[in-house]
Amino acid sequence: MTAVPDPVELTRTLLRFDTVNPRSPERPCALHLAGLLERGGFAVTLHEFAPGRTSLVARTGSGSRPPICFAGHIDTVPLGAAPWSRDPFGGEIEGGRLYGRGSSDMKSGVAAFVCAVLEVACLSPGADLTLVVVAGEETGCEGSAHLARTAGALGPAGALVVGEPTGNAPLVGHKGALWLRARTRGVTAHGSMPERGVNAIYKAARAVARLEAYHFEVPPDPLLGSPTLNVGTIAGGLNVNSVPDEAVIGIDVRTIPAQRNEAVRADLGRLLGSEVELSTIVDVESLRTDAGHAWVKEVFDLAAARLGERSEPRAAPYFTDASLLTPAFGNVPTVILGPGELPLAHQTDEYCLVRRIEEAAGLYGELARRWCGA
Ligand SMILES: [Zn+2]
Repeated sequence: MTAVPDPVELTRTLLRFDTVNPRSPERPCALHLAGLLERGGFAVTLHEFAPGRTSLVARTGSGSRPPICFAGHIDTVPLGAAPWSRDPFGGEIEGGRLYGRGSSDMKSGVAAFVCAVLEVACLSPGADLTLVVVAGEETGCEGSAHLARTAGALGPAGALVVGEPTGNAPLVGHKGALWLRARTRGVTAHGSMPERGVNAIYKAARAVARLEAYHFEVPPDPLLGSPTLNVGTIAGGLNVNSVPDEAVIGIDVRTIPAQRNEAVRADLGRLLGSEVELSTIVDVESLRTDAGHAWVKEVFDLAAARLGERSEPRAAPYFTDASLLTPAFGNVPTVILGPGELPLAHQTDEYCLVRRIEEAAGLYGELARRWCGA
């Protein structure tokens, strides 16, 4: 039997692995966690969607009932252009704050649930527990998509906790994302004789104008509000004195539970017509769990007891791995609950409150014990 690591110390260890996506592959960080979990008695499988891009699934238990699953990602966004006042990979603690890229989003969450389940598994052998730790979340849930389509990789689960940053207040859903590339084509010609060409930028401009005027025909969601659409990029043309033969725009749609991404894409295809070729960059569905589900209510009760205040069911604007994992587990009840602070995710000088990490580990441990009747 190995000693259970401290969640704050494990967060610091994970922060010292540079896992900036896609520059620095996750494999060394994933192998560190795999070793810890294997020594704690978990059966661990590794899965790579590309070389070095390692996710892991860790399981323990009697198999007598579907396990509770804790999930999170170990990749981070880049550091950004602004200089940091702390070492982003140093794991420095000052004034109750643990600094580093990924401290809030979401190595603290991963460390907290790894420590929590190691302790529960140690004290209650036979407890049915699954952990899913993925690579490649920040670029569109590549790791969890790979697990979801790999037969047998995930196994069963009866409930899912995703440790993304919520300040330990549970959330019951989030928006989906549909990122599209829209390409227009033309015929190049000398800029002094544009009548001999077909201008791809004019086609793209017409597409942008239609997108700006577009309204979704769906009532707002009570928790998530309305879907949104933003044209985020535009590129086209090689030089000022040629008729451009290609232009590309990037479209970011955030969807709500009343919509299916596939149908939204079809609607936009009809809107833009035949002069635009659409291709999908990221396609992750929204998530909504019934806040009245008995287990979800229990999560809210436990969180309220630990936090000293009860939060109303809320949902997040960002997407998570639950978009892929929840359907793969058969649409199990799912909460987003983690120690990070959402406003600090992706920021310069990102930090996580040390007390939140300890609080999350306690909460995850209690959820695991109750699920397993331990
Ligand atoms: Zn995240």
